[in-house]
Amino acid sequence: MKEIPGRSVEKNAQIVQLTELAKRAHKVIALTGAGISVDSGIPAFRGNQGLWEKYDPTEYAHIEAFLRDPGKVWVMLAEMDLAVSKAKPNAAHYALAHLEQVSSFSSVITQNVDNLHQRAGSSRVIEFHGNTQRLKCLSCNRLYGKDHVSLAVLPPRCTCGGVLKPDAVFFGEAIPWEANLQASQEAESCDLILVVGTSAVVAPASSIPFMAKRNGATVVEINLEPTMLTDTVADLSIMRSATEVLPELVEELRNVSP
Ligand code: ZN
Repeated sequence: MKEIPGRSVEKNAQIVQLTELAKRAHKVIALTGAGISVDSGIPAFRGNQGLWEKYDPTEYAHIEAFLRDPGKVWVMLAEMDLAVSKAKPNAAHYALAHLEQVSSFSSVITQNVDNLHQRAGSSRVIEFHGNTQRLKCLSCNRLYGKDHVSLAVLPPRCTCGGVLKPDAVFFGEAIPWEANLQASQEAESCDLILVVGTSAVVAPASSIPFMAKRNGATVVEINLEPTMLTDTVADLSIMRSATEVLPELVEELRNVSP
């Protein structure tokens, strides 16, 4: 085995195991959450200094709050947008995109709305919670690219006069049916699922690893801390940053590729 300085034997063994699983798999998918974007500077919503410390989510992130006072909610959305627009994809996003070249990688199912997988080059991204880079008119359903809409006056409006809302799932809204269906199909047909940067506690995304497991897939989680997956469905739990683990996996797979 090749010695990689600074990496412990146990860490190495986990990468070797993950590489073997990825090599054997006929269909690999990933489920990602907020943890993968933390190293891109996207602030976590929950916890200390999170956006929800400053803005009560029941007042700002619920669809009813938006419908009641879209201008007020847009003040928070504009602040969030400032942080998100400065963010860039990190090594983990790029590695997932590279997995398409070196493994039987099929799709990324993401709970994130930050567009970073798409920017990193992943060709199939299932947006479980939508994408804040698109705005949708609540009256006529017309979609706008966010960059084509001025936020000088809030809330921004469609040419028809309707209020524009980020095309992302608010509390109280359903998961887009098409994304839900595609995610289920991917979970049921994969033989390896990488759960990255998510504790997978929020339904219905939380059911995806279990759905994959029931259909015979191997479940690998890459999370900094133990989650509810660790002692339940995870076959392998790698408690390190995805910005290290995923590039290491890509590198190992490149080495074994002809
Ligand atoms: Zn409209």
